[in-house]
Amino acid sequence: MVSLLVYNIGELVTNVAGTGEGGPLGIQRRAAVLVEQGEVVWVGPTGDAPAADRRIDAEGAAVLPGFVDSHAHLVFAGDRAAEFAARMAGQPYTGGGIRTTVRATRAASDDELRATVRRLRAEALRQGTTTIEIKSGYGLTVADEARSLRIAAEVSRETTFLGAHVVPAEYADRPDEYVGLVCGPMLVAAAPYARWIDVFCERGAFDADHARAILACGQALGLGVRVHANQLGPGPGVQLGVELDAASVDHCTHLTDADIDALASTRFDCMCHDGGHTTTVATLLPGAEFSTRSPYPDARRLLDAGVTVALATDCNPGSSYTSSMPFCIALAVREMQMTPAEAVWAATAGGARALRRGDIGVLRPGARADLIILDAPSHLHLAYRPGVPLIRQVLHNGVPR
Ligand SMILES: [Zn+2]
Repeated sequence: MVSLLVYNIGELVTNVAGTGEGGPLGIQRRAAVLVEQGEVVWVGPTGDAPAADRRIDAEGAAVLPGFVDSHAHLVFAGDRAAEFAARMAGQPYTGGGIRTTVRATRAASDDELRATVRRLRAEALRQGTTTIEIKSGYGLTVADEARSLRIAAEVSRETTFLGAHVVPAEYADRPDEYVGLVCGPMLVAAAPYARWIDVFCERGAFDADHARAILACGQALGLGVRVHANQLGPGPGVQLGVELDAASVDHCTHLTDADIDALASTRFDCMCHDGGHTTTVATLLPGAEFSTRSPYPDARRLLDAGVTVALATDCNPGSSYTSSMPFCIALAVREMQMTPAEAVWAATAGGARALRRGDIGVLRPGARADLIILDAPSHLHLAYRPGVPLIRQVLHNGVPR
C-alpha cells in the first residue's frame, strides 16, 4: 500500500468545525495530511507526521478540500458566444437559447459529446474541482437524454436527469404530452445512469404542477431531487423543492420571505458541531448572473436565516460558460456579501451537502483524498486575487494531478 504525505502546510482548511481556528473552516496551522488508497487516513501537525512512501512539500502554502461543483451542464455541442455578445449589447436573457444548444447536441456524435465532457471535466480539475455534478437536458428525446447521461456517468457518479429543462420545439403546443414522455419512457431510459432528477421550474419552462409530477416520478424510481428555482423571477420552485425534500434548490435569485422561511424550516441540529444545517441547500450560481448581467442573489439574507448555502458554476454554453470555482468564490464575496470564509466553505462543504455527501468537501480520516494545494498562504487569496491561477496542485482520489 503506497502512502503519500502532504506536509509543511501553512494553513489547512479541514471544514471540520470546532477544531482549530476559523469556525466552520476548522483551520490547522503547520499541518500535514496522510493519504492511502484514495482516502485521508491521518491529519495533524507536520512535526508529528507518520512516515510515508511519498512526500509532497507544501512549502507553507494553504491546502483545502477540493471544490465540489454541485451544478453543471457539460453534455452539449456548440457554443453561444454570439448570444452572449448580444446580451452584453443590451438584449435580455430569457432562456430561449437552450433550444439552440438542443439542436446542436442532437446533431452531434457520441464521440463529439464525450470529447466536450472530458475537456470540461479536465478544465475544472485543473482549477481544483474534484467533484462535479453533470446534468443532461440538451437532448430532450428518450435516446438523446439516455446517451447524455451515459456519457456523463463515464466521468462522474453525480449525474442528473434534466429532461425537463425546456419543452422542446416539437412539443411547444403539447406540453402535457412532453411531461408524460419525461415521466415515462425518458425517465426509464435515463434512470440507470442518473443519481438525481431536476426540473427547470420557471415561467417559460415548467410550472409547479408539471414540476411536481416529474420530480415525484423520479423519486419513485429512487432518484434524489434537485430544482432549478426562482432564477428569472419569483416562483414556486423553492417551496416545491422543500415540499419534496430536495437536496438542493438552485439559483435562488428571486426569493420571498416565505421562500426563505421554507428553506430555514428544514434546519436540523447535526452532530458536526457547527450549529446545524438545512436538509435543502440553497445553491447559488453567480456565474449565471455575471453572464446574463442580472442582479445577484442575496446570500446574506439566506445565511442570516440559517440556510445552508452552496456555490456552483452552472457551467453551460448559454448562461454561464465558466468551470471556475475560484471565479465563483470571488463573485460571491464581491457581489453577494459573503465573507471569504463563507464562500470557501460553500464551494467545498456546501457543495458536498448539496449532493448529500459526507465523504467530500472535508479533510478528516475517512474522507476522500481530494485536496488542493494553493499558490498562496491562505484561502483568503481565492477572493483577494481574482482571476489569478492559484491552484498549484490537485490531489484527486489521492492521486497528484
Ligand atoms: Zn443550471
